[in-house]
Amino acid sequence: MAREQLSLYDTTLRDGAQTQGVDFSLEDKLLIAEQLDGLGLDYVEAGYPGANPTDTRLFGESRPMGAKLTAFGMTKRPGRSLSNDPGFQALLAAKADAICLVGKTWDFHVDVALGTTLEENLEAIKESVAAVVDSGREALLDCEHFFDGYKANPDYALACAKAAHEAGARWVVLCDTNGGTLPEEVEAIVTEVVKHVPGDHVSIHVHNDTDNGVANSLAAVRAGARQIQGTLNGLGERCGNANLTSIIPTLMLKTDYAERYETRVTPEKLRTLTHASRILDEVLNRAPNRHAPYVGESAFAHKGGIHVSAVQKDPRTYEHVPPETVGNVRRMLVSDQGGRSNIMAQLDRIGIAVPKDDPRVARFLEVVKEREAVGYAYEAAEASFEMLARRLLGNVPQFFDVDSFRVLVERRHNALGELVTVSEATVKARVDGNTVMSVGEGNGPVNALDMALRKDLGPYQRYIDDLELVDYKVRILTGGTDAVTRVLIESRDGEGRRWFTVGVSPNIVDASFEALLDSINYKLIRDGAPAP
Ligand SMILES: [Zn+2]
Repeated sequence: MAREQLSLYDTTLRDGAQTQGVDFSLEDKLLIAEQLDGLGLDYVEAGYPGANPTDTRLFGESRPMGAKLTAFGMTKRPGRSLSNDPGFQALLAAKADAICLVGKTWDFHVDVALGTTLEENLEAIKESVAAVVDSGREALLDCEHFFDGYKANPDYALACAKAAHEAGARWVVLCDTNGGTLPEEVEAIVTEVVKHVPGDHVSIHVHNDTDNGVANSLAAVRAGARQIQGTLNGLGERCGNANLTSIIPTLMLKTDYAERYETRVTPEKLRTLTHASRILDEVLNRAPNRHAPYVGESAFAHKGGIHVSAVQKDPRTYEHVPPETVGNVRRMLVSDQGGRSNIMAQLDRIGIAVPKDDPRVARFLEVVKEREAVGYAYEAAEASFEMLARRLLGNVPQFFDVDSFRVLVERRHNALGELVTVSEATVKARVDGNTVMSVGEGNGPVNALDMALRKDLGPYQRYIDDLELVDYKVRILTGGTDAVTRVLIESRDGEGRRWFTVGVSPNIVDASFEALLDSINYKLIRDGAPAP
């Protein structure tokens, strides 16, 4: 039987960005968009062009990818012409493949929040959708408060949905904006909607306020909707959005859904799900949720003799799906097998070939575990993982040695009488048999240290001239006086390649220095710098 196509729409970078404490930079957004695109999602909604500098820059140039890059904004303001609505014009100017317009569909909101008539609101929806279609982009109408609106005035809510569809919207998005609707209500209401708007034009967007975000999304699909909107890790304001990290594997691994529907996510791409989930946590500087379904560290962890021995005989005894299907691993307290196969898979990915029974693999695994226990995070710092693997399993030339460094931080008044804080670093290194002493200045100790370290590396200088620090994240790992600091650094070269390194120490400058050194050495190795 031919399977029906389900479209997957991610809004981590727009709706997810509404979360308290979340503030994505442009670099963050591009990195996450790359992960989402890599997963095989159909749409990546990335922000509101015109509303803030980050999103305006993001949509200021075209960014080709497999997913449709989607801009979000308001339908035109009632009582104004399209050409006289600067917000709408900024949206049309965005370099996006699709534009999702939010419109009101609850009569109460039209009246109270918009202060306009129901008729005028319908007109605004039609005109705005038609304008997007005329601009050659795909249009979506995000029907705000659709379910509450439907309960209050079903005819009006349906009229809005139909108006958008007739004006050419590719998808009419039914939103449970307040997140209080239950699965049986979603199923009943979507069943009615698809009598008026074809199901392959109906999308579901729910929030998780009753912990039913996933259940509500699946209920809508059962009732005929053919697009699901959600976010990675369920990121979103209040209790979050529908969690795509749980929805995607459910659609693919549970027979009832897998037999009936297909998405662009292939089984190979599904294996990157755990990685994508962890990357988002790193960008947010958050500890991953150990108990997250499918991708959490505990999702396939087994403790206790009977469970463990049963799982060793046949994992199906205590696992609902195989962990490797989502890129996770089985963890058992009595065995290192999970860790070892995980490590082998990672080594394979970075191109280091060693036989599985090589005793150095066990030693490497031990070192990785020890280091992770004190705070290193190799999932997010693959360049550091690769450097560690090469040091223990291959060989890494000692391109240069740093004998010592010193960093000074000074707070003083400058010539203009302004209070400034400046940093100066001195690095003493041995390169190619010579001792070099370099001084760097910066706006902070790490910046100054980076400047000094990269000022003069003799014959290696030309390999690192195009190296640039893009991002720097600090996390304090344990409370109290014995706190340690983890520093994660993102570097980039002239060809736009990016890599991440990590350093851990009780001292933030030390941790940063370790990550900087890894980054430079990684670049030298990858670009084939000759051993001294
Ligand atoms: Zn929402």
